[in-house]
Amino acid sequence: MRSRLLCADDAGRVFDHPALEAAVAWGDAWRRIERPLAPLPAGATLATLRGWRPVGFDPGGRRFVVVEELRVSGRRFRPHAVGAVLPPGWTRAALPAGDRLPSAPVLPQWAYTAAGWSGGSFVVAALRTDRRRHWDPARFSGPELPGLVEARLAGDPGSRLLRQLSTCALRHRCFTAQNLFYGRDEGALPASNACNARCAGCLSDQPEGGAPASQPRIGQKAAWQELAEIGGRHLARATGRVMVSFGQGCEGEPLCAADTIERAIGEMRGATPRGSINLNTNGSLPDALDRLLHAGLDAVRISLNSADPRLYEAYYSPRSYSFSDVVRSIQFARARGVYVALNLLTFPGVTDREGEVEALADLIARRRVDQLQTRSLAIDPAAYVAIARGRGAGGEPLGLPEMARRLRQRAPWLSIGNFARALNER
Ligand code: SF4
Repeated sequence: MRSRLLCADDAGRVFDHPALEAAVAWGDAWRRIERPLAPLPAGATLATLRGWRPVGFDPGGRRFVVVEELRVSGRRFRPHAVGAVLPPGWTRAALPAGDRLPSAPVLPQWAYTAAGWSGGSFVVAALRTDRRRHWDPARFSGPELPGLVEARLAGDPGSRLLRQLSTCALRHRCFTAQNLFYGRDEGALPASNACNARCAGCLSDQPEGGAPASQPRIGQKAAWQELAEIGGRHLARATGRVMVSFGQGCEGEPLCAADTIERAIGEMRGATPRGSINLNTNGSLPDALDRLLHAGLDAVRISLNSADPRLYEAYYSPRSYSFSDVVRSIQFARARGVYVALNLLTFPGVTDREGEVEALADLIARRRVDQLQTRSLAIDPAAYVAIARGRGAGGEPLGLPEMARRLRQRAPWLSIGNFARALNER
């Protein structure tokens, strides 16, 4: 059964179109849906693409149709396109098909995913890429959380970092910060308020007139004593997949605070050998990274949108480093024998171009990367299409399933998922 096109009115009410099929986009190329879509996962939400006219497929006329106006119960209105925002554990396979008006605002930072209506329910163009349940939204933001936070703050009233993390946990609903208060799995250790890149889709720092940032950047660099105290306690006492991670969405680049982190790692490892210490980074400063590896880091996750330097640098706008430094960081981590993951910011129609996939497979195979984490890039689709136009390795888009197959063909050991791997999962 073909999925029906979704449209929204100015109030965000969603309707299915009486005649048109849902269509999808790879980059800015509209496509007819070839395979059934997945049911909308628990924890997913629908999002309106304000100022984008919905585009559907007319099976009779065998053509794409831009919906300029819709009539529902006698009411005429100019509709907006609709997409979905996926929960953790899923990766977007296609974008919503839409026709962006020149007057359209910059969209908030969500990873807009193609959606439709089929068999009486919402469906999405998405792949389940990690089946582990420890990041299920139902496990977080429970009624017990404020009490846990309050008790913890009462035990350490002077800790500025703990107060920051309580805001992250309660106001911004950061799951990694919440884990510190739940005393389980991966806990957040945001350290740096500075960054040496200017990513177009940065979640914590956007230029004037840009998209509203998803969360505010932390105001100050953390003190090594507070990082060591909070991190050491979590490593020593937490249950489950015990880990602490530097490099959170609310901070800049942790390597820009390497001195502080090096000291904190030394203190934590002096206190306990338990659990894993991970760094999420842009990999910009290989020598600083090597010092942290020497201090006791056992896992590194390096973010990139492409293994092609031109597309990488067009998105990251690096300050005082280049893509070759990122590759050196992967080499250093490999040489130290730690667990190496790539955090691939995915965008259908760009990331899965044949040339891009070949360049990425080359990097993964030659540098013996252990894991590829796929992260649907949260950005206004028009912004990224403009960045990627004429840049990067070319070729026809393959689709994410074929991309994964080709990566595994070149690197049979490669684990593909969404979440960090704990010590006993490597
Ligand atoms: S590297 Fe991270 S903190 Fe820096 S600009 Fe990019 S997303 Fe933002």
